Amino acid sequence: MNKNHYIKLLKLWFPFIINVFITFTITYITTLIIIFIYAKQDSLPSPSMGFTLIIVISILIGLFFTIFIGLMIHNFIKPINKIIESAEKVAKGDFSIHLDESVHKEEIRDMYISFNKMVRELNSIETLRNDFIVNVSHEFKTPLSSIEGYATLLQSPNITEEERIEYSKIIIESSKQLSSLTGNILTLSKLETQEILPESVHFNLDEQIRQALLILENKWCSKNIDINLDFDMCSYYGNEKLLMQVWLNLLENAIKFTSNGGTITASVKEHNEYICITISDTGIGMSKETQQYIFDKFYQGDKTHTIDGNGLGLALVKRIIDLYNGTITVKSAVNKGSTFIVSLPKNYN
Ligand code: ADP
Repeated sequence: MNKNHYIKLLKLWFPFIINVFITFTITYITTLIIIFIYAKQDSLPSPSMGFTLIIVISILIGLFFTIFIGLMIHNFIKPINKIIESAEKVAKGDFSIHLDESVHKEEIRDMYISFNKMVRELNSIETLRNDFIVNVSHEFKTPLSSIEGYATLLQSPNITEEERIEYSKIIIESSKQLSSLTGNILTLSKLETQEILPESVHFNLDEQIRQALLILENKWCSKNIDINLDFDMCSYYGNEKLLMQVWLNLLENAIKFTSNGGTITASVKEHNEYICITISDTGIGMSKETQQYIFDKFYQGDKTHTIDGNGLGLALVKRIIDLYNGTITVKSAVNKGSTFIVSLPKNYN
């Protein structure tokens, strides 16, 4: 028999042992009291019938208390046992447990309400975890199957030179997609558990956004997108790599969702306590419903997945801005373009 078994046995027999103990004590005390009363009246009954009577009365009183105290202990232990049983079920992964909150006793009701709340929280964490795994597997499946498919086609001896180039291009694109996906997942999971900011330096924020635009030059040039800049010169103390990621993701989205010949406007304005950065585009815009979810992991407004992306870009942006105690908001309307407004406090510690 292991330790748990003994604990279970003790839990089961504990109320019974207490009850028997109390009953014996009460019967004993009652007998003594009755004998004491008789002795005081100087009329001790004859041993033949008197003591039998005393014992019967004592047993009856003891029995009454046994039932009474038994019921009390039962009522006291019942909700605790219910919680223990429910907690055991939750530990085994059953999150459908719900304790009835309409009990009369206030303390028990509070305990049940807290327990139900805990189960709901655990359930939502579990759902998030499962959703995350489903999303990751789903995002991996598409590029992996196209790599497999086109690599198989490449093995065929009858393909033309153009086909070979085209298939290789698709394989390279899909590999890049996978690499960006794994990179984003790793960065995001690292940032989610991180509260201390990685090494910080002083740098020019306006210069950094110019650099981000240079990195993306091929993309906006190939779509003939006009770029307007309205930058104050301003210095910021933070992690350059993380903040570069913010501007790259926001600008990449602006380019991606803006059609040929559109315009992107970026501004950096320094205020006393914070720096305000806005990135606007004249692209497809977003409905109010889409705007609610854009910062969620794996959310993509375009459900057909025809536009490149994995829905992690803005989740990363939000997490980085949160780390700097900043805010990010969006103003947008369908076919009217979008404006992302980032506010970074200068003193975020
Ligand atoms: P991804 O771009 O990989 O789909 P993001 O997390 O960067 O993922 O963006 C989430 C969603 O937000 C996009 O799928 C898109 O629907 C919407 N979105 C983001 N930026 C813009 C923008 N500038 N214009 C229109 N929609 C946008």
